Parts: sequence; C-alpha cells; structure tokens
Amino acid sequence: MPEAPAPSSAPEQPRTLPLVFDEPRGRRKPPRHLADLTPAERKELVSGLGLPGFRAKQLSTHYFGRLVEDPAEMTDLPTAERDQLVAGLLPPLMEPLRTLETDKGATRKTLWKLFDGALVESVLMRYPDRATMCVSSQAGCGMACPFCATGQGGLQRNMSTAEIVEQVVAGARSLARGEVAGGPGRVSNVVFMGMGEPMANYKAVIGAVRRLTDKTPDGLGMSARGITVSTVGLVPRIEQLADEGIPVTLALSLHAPDDELRDELVPINNRWKVHEAVGAAWRYAERTKRRVSIEYALIKDVNDQAWRADLLADVLTSYGDWGWVHVNLIPLNPTPGSKWTASRREDEREVVRRLQAKGVPTTVRDTRGREIDGACGQLAAQ
Ligand code: SAH
Repeated sequence: MPEAPAPSSAPEQPRTLPLVFDEPRGRRKPPRHLADLTPAERKELVSGLGLPGFRAKQLSTHYFGRLVEDPAEMTDLPTAERDQLVAGLLPPLMEPLRTLETDKGATRKTLWKLFDGALVESVLMRYPDRATMCVSSQAGCGMACPFCATGQGGLQRNMSTAEIVEQVVAGARSLARGEVAGGPGRVSNVVFMGMGEPMANYKAVIGAVRRLTDKTPDGLGMSARGITVSTVGLVPRIEQLADEGIPVTLALSLHAPDDELRDELVPINNRWKVHEAVGAAWRYAERTKRRVSIEYALIKDVNDQAWRADLLADVLTSYGDWGWVHVNLIPLNPTPGSKWTASRREDEREVVRRLQAKGVPTTVRDTRGREIDGACGQLAAQ
C-alpha cells in the first residue's frame, strides 16, 4: 500500500485529501478459492485434504480450461472426493444480481453480489475481432476523481484475486456457451477499468494477472498483451509493475497536462505530480517495450482547450518521440450530479489535430455501454 499523503506544511495546501488506501481491519476475508492460489499451493492444499495431489490439476482443468460451472460435470472425479475438492477450493464467490444488455447484446453489464454483500460490476464488450472484459478490482474506489461515479461512493473494500478472476471466467463461460450476440467465442482482452484503483490493490491484481496469463490449465492462458491495467498514477506501484516481468499494457489516467487542473480532476495528483506520473509511465514503456496509453476524458471547457492539447503533446514528447505513448481521448460520460459534460465535437477534433500535429498518436475511444451506465466512470453498482 502506498503511504497516505504526507501532511503538507505549505500554507497554500487548501484541503485534506479524501483518499483511502487501507481498508478497515478485522473484516471477514473472501473465501479462499482455487484462483487465489499458485499451482504449487493448490497441490499442497489438496494433499493437505488427504487427497492425491494430481486432483489439483484436474480441478484446475475444469475451472480454467473447460470453464465448468456445475461440479456434476466433473465426472472424472470420484463423487466423495469431488465434494471435498469443491468445498475446499471452489466456494461460491459471487452471485449475478442483474445483467443489462445494449448494442444488440454485444455489450453486457453484470452486477455482482460478493460473499459479504459488497456490489461490483463488470462489462463484457464484443467486437468483430475481439471480446474485452472490463473488470472491477475494488468494491468502490478511494481515489475520489470528481467526474467518476465510482469515486463518489468511496472505497468499500479490496477484492481478492479469485473475485477478480471470476469476473473473467464468468464472461468466458457466457462467450463459450454462445450467450453473447455473435456466436460462441472467447475473451481476448481484459481491462482493469471497472470499479476501483487496481494499483491500490496491487497484490490481488498481480495475482489475477498471473492467473489470466498462466498457461491452461494453471490459468486462462491469455496473452499479457491483451491485458491493460489502468491507474490514476500510484508511482511506486507503476515502478513495481515494471519489475514484474509481465508485459501488460499500462494506461495512465492523466486527464490534464498541468498540476493545477490535475490536482482537481485526479486528487492523487496532490501526492504524485504530472511529471512524476508521466515519468513513471515513460520508464514503464522503456522497461517493458510496451506502448503506454494516456487516458484523457474530454470535459467541456475544463480540459479541452487548444493550449492544453499543445501542452499535453509537449509534456509527452519531452520524454522522446520513439512511439512510447499514445493518447486515448474519452468523451466524458455523464454521471449523476456531475456539473461537467463532454466536449463539443469541434473542440474534440481540435485536440486530436493538435496532438497529431506534434506527432502524438491519438485515438478517440469508441465508448460502449453508455445506455446501461456501463461506460467508463459510470459503474456505481446501484
Ligand atoms: N482507477 C483506474 C480505473 C478507472 S476507470 C483509473 O483511474 O485509471 C478507467 C478510465 O475511465 C479512467 O481513465 C477514468 O479516469 C475514466 N473515467 C472515469 N470517469 C469517467 C467519465 N465519467 N467519463 C469518461 N471517462 C471516465
């Protein structure tokens, strides 16, 4: 966990930060699950139950490989052992309360109730050439970005590795069963852009990334290139991620190129400034050879001025122009009670033009799920 921001002695520091990193102690932990454990830990646990160690691999094959949901389908396991294995390693983690669909069924948002009643949401987006699962890593979020619905409710708790993985497995099951418009398919991409700040739940998120990328049947066998971890910019965690040796794509939620505005839009900027966050992103790109994505929600008359677009390009290109970065502009999605709206089309176009003119690859995100409050920043689990 990063340390809480140090109290500043500077008299001009106007406010205390509503940032929450640590959850209350003494809470019940989510049930232990196969997906929380490494293959070696699974084997050890199964042996501890007095069962042959190879059962761990069989169980993993059912969960990660065949995406089995109903234990009755695990017919290669003797009934008595199966009950023991399922009780010990496949406890129920979450229950779907509601699924909303849009885009003729190609976008599906699911509201999940976790074991302790905490609510989270995940979104499955099907495209002609890929299927992306947008997952939550925390119930709520402590980062308090004023334009994000999740940020308004504060942090309830961190999710466990298995709770994060289970969202992807659930999406993989729906796709495999052909429940999603477009016929049977598989999850090709996972983005940590649902509820929560993934870098504030670092250990569980890295565990989940490992389960997603471990070869089947140890994990889901996905490519790290298909996984994006999005962060407000917890600098020490970005540095740590670069050292993990898993080349996931890093997305940095910048939203402003100058500290004055970013202090307001992304309050963690009061702790790690624009140059520190962008510097960490640049080092990540250098270390992993993965192009970093800079997220920038375009907010009308707030951060969409031509001079800010120029400044953004200058800040990014000051680290070099070897293609280490690209900018992903997100038209602001409406959230309850927010005074802000999306930029005018002509201002959006001008921002794109100015960034590209200075050689910064720029795209505007094709936002999905707005009709079902399933787009970026709209997940409130209500
Ligand atoms: N905590 C992570 C993941 C959050 S969601 C992070 O901040 O990066 C992914 C992206 O959606 C972030 O860039 C976030 O800033 C952005 N976002 C939040 N609210 C939004 C809104 N109302 N409209 C558009 N994008 C939004």
